[in-house]
Amino acid sequence: VPVLAVVGRPNVGKSTLVNRIIGRREAVVEDVPGVTRDRVSYDAEWAGKRFTIQDTGGWEPSAKGLQQSVARQAELAMNTADAIVVVVDATVGATATDEAVARVLRRSKTPVILVANKVDDQKLEAEAAALWSLGLGEPFSVSATHGRGTGDLLDKILEALPETPREIIGATGGPRRVALVGKPNVGKSSLLNKLSGDERSVVHDVAGTTVDPVDSLVELGGKVWRFVDTAGLRKRVIHASGAEYYASLRTRSAIEAAEVAVVLIDASQPISEQDQRVITMVEETGRALVLAFNKWDLVDDERRVQLEKEIDRDLQRVRWALRVNVSAQTGRAVQKLVPAMETSLESWDTRVPTGRLNTWLRETVAATPPPMRGGRLPRILFATQATTRPPTFVLFTTGFLEANYRRFLERRLRESFGFEGSPIRIGVRVRE
Ligand code: GDP
Repeated sequence: VPVLAVVGRPNVGKSTLVNRIIGRREAVVEDVPGVTRDRVSYDAEWAGKRFTIQDTGGWEPSAKGLQQSVARQAELAMNTADAIVVVVDATVGATATDEAVARVLRRSKTPVILVANKVDDQKLEAEAAALWSLGLGEPFSVSATHGRGTGDLLDKILEALPETPREIIGATGGPRRVALVGKPNVGKSSLLNKLSGDERSVVHDVAGTTVDPVDSLVELGGKVWRFVDTAGLRKRVIHASGAEYYASLRTRSAIEAAEVAVVLIDASQPISEQDQRVITMVEETGRALVLAFNKWDLVDDERRVQLEKEIDRDLQRVRWALRVNVSAQTGRAVQKLVPAMETSLESWDTRVPTGRLNTWLRETVAATPPPMRGGRLPRILFATQATTRPPTFVLFTTGFLEANYRRFLERRLRESFGFEGSPIRIGVRVRE
């Protein structure tokens, strides 16, 4: 069934709207023992059509604040849903947080419906119209509490939802998608050529797949891989002015189209700002990550020691990523790339059974409880894995958790379950 995500900052009436949409016949998709009110997804039906509502609300503000956390919600929705409803409180108008969400959603390829909520009567229509300023198209006025406009909204939602849900990335058994990215001259086209070898190993036809002409299908380790957006790599392009800006847009879109990103870094040079920016893009889009240190033929003992220091200093935040040393020139260890991509994708797809996750949670929290907040000890009631690709967890708690403690839990999750090569995300949902 297609998935509808509902996003927006707290208190705009998301839950009221969700309740309104699912009515009383609320059938629970994820049967979460011990938690009766807070849910991640719900079954809904309108005009004989079934869909799932994914409620991404209620995440705890991250260390960087509410704006960032709500913007992340929107990112998550773009990656997983078939349509997105973004809810804004028309009586308040567009806040900075709403603007931050809109900024993310304006580049969404998934259909977005802007809902102006709390329009309880005609007089408030002007307030709703002011939300055109968000650049998300026509605001759709409703009153979730009174039901005003919700029937029409549901019609509109059904229109936006596709007949068949979006292809879950990679689930169809087609070739897995790889983005080969990195700053100019790091060796991307050399590596692609090395991997492809002679033309015979470049596959032009795989039964049942249509290949975007900008992608390359390459057989490696007995499997076909789809290297996305390699057109520019195969044909050397002359860089015009503004090329850097376009290169960066192109890098981002390649990463978004891929499941795993192989970030090439020139091992013979100091790790640069530009390398870090590409890695940050992978982190933000939540793709699996392999760090490939290229030009290894140029690395001597002294440089190797120096590089280790740079990695410790600059790449701490992605220490979960697998590293391979390669040389596109000599062909050294390019075959190591494949197992690294495979392991990372496996982690990216991993789902931890709810029972195991909660046994782990009880033991971990009992050994190291979260710090007090406001003189009270927040209790962590339950955890569930909301999505894979990347693994995303939701903790249900009775109070906010310090960012430090959440990082601690992430470390422990990795120690217990691995996730090598994949980012993981942890959201916190506070029950009132
Ligand atoms: P791209 O811009 O990332 O596609 O980089 P290219 O593949 O065009 O490579 C840039 C330059 O680095 C070329 O002169 C390559 O010959 C050189 N190069 C690429 N890989 C290696 C390598 O592993 N070792 C050495 N020594 N040179 C390399």
